[in-house]
Amino acid sequence: MSKRDYYEVLGVSKDASQQDLKKAYRRLAMKYHPDRNPDDTEAVAKFKEAKEAYEVLSDEDKRAAYDRFGHAGVEGQGGFGGAGAGGFAGGGFGDIFGDIFGDIFGGGGRGGRGPARGADLRYTLELSLEQAVRGCEEKIRIPSWDSCEVCHGTGAEAGEEPVTCPTCNGIGQVRMQQGFFTVQQTCPACHGEGRIVKNPCRNCGGQGRVQNTKTLSVKIPPGVDTGDRIRLAGEGEAGMHGAPAGDLYVQVAVREHEIFKRDGSDLHCEVPVSFVDAALGGEQDVPTLNGKVKLKVPPETQTGKLFRLRGKGVTPVRGGPPGDLICKVVVETPVKLSSEQKDLLRKLQSSLDKGGDRHNPRRTSWFEGVKRFFDGL
Ligand SMILES: [Zn+2]
Ligand SMILES: [Zn+2]
Repeated sequence: MSKRDYYEVLGVSKDASQQDLKKAYRRLAMKYHPDRNPDDTEAVAKFKEAKEAYEVLSDEDKRAAYDRFGHAGVEGQGGFGGAGAGGFAGGGFGDIFGDIFGDIFGGGGRGGRGPARGADLRYTLELSLEQAVRGCEEKIRIPSWDSCEVCHGTGAEAGEEPVTCPTCNGIGQVRMQQGFFTVQQTCPACHGEGRIVKNPCRNCGGQGRVQNTKTLSVKIPPGVDTGDRIRLAGEGEAGMHGAPAGDLYVQVAVREHEIFKRDGSDLHCEVPVSFVDAALGGEQDVPTLNGKVKLKVPPETQTGKLFRLRGKGVTPVRGGPPGDLICKVVVETPVKLSSEQKDLLRKLQSSLDKGGDRHNPRRTSWFEGVKRFFDGL
């Protein structure tokens, strides 16, 4: 079954604000919530669809990827950090409500049982155009949380074992009546972990983890562009009390290049050509990312003329043929002329004038257009 557009699912426009998205999702979640539609598989499907759309669009990164690449942009990149894919079975409703209603009902954070997974981290990695095109390996330093060595991640003072949380009896969730349906909420006493410690470890303050920094080596595949993300599973923050770590997302930002501008897989550059070469034709060295090539400038070339060098662009990271290098000719007016050179140009000008309009067809037609414009006023 092909998926519906996420914006269409939520019934909002492409430029909807986060506020609009949340409102739209709340409305759908209220309408199709399984508590209100018992045994209605269609409602469940609608609910699931809205949840997925909201999960993607409420995350600026995923939304940007979705806007750019559609459904393909938010799939196969490692999923939604565990929350999206198939997460509906087995009492997932509490989580859904933890996410969306957390802020109204004063609950918070990630729902679900057991210790909270560590947070995902994002790191913006600046690359030169060459690094992005060829690929590279970069070392990055990121803040990290390591499991506490004193309490071995339990958060409890040495020798003490955590005990079952009396508030939720170890379930990690509490149920509350909200109007016509029951809301399951993360237990406020143990923050969803189901266990509490009486005397917190002094080394980590009971968190079971300590802050540190780590150096990571990140392999950047050739062809990446600004906005691309590389996911390093398990390299995010360590979880509390021995829970799994989050993921690290390395976000690529390509610096501006002195010569080339990138547009997808194509590169653009300007090539200044002397006005003599432009008039008579000539050869010009043009830089590419793999050394220089010769560009044949034919006689009577004008400023703005584009030359396409096939295959001299960028090979996209998602596969496909390399793009082109598109060179734009800019005819350069000579400067700092000697009096002799000025004389030569004046001679050239008077010789051109004798030829009438034919040497400057564009200027001639422009003047005619201007004349028609004033006559028409
Ligand atoms: Zn500790
Ligand atoms: Zn509890």
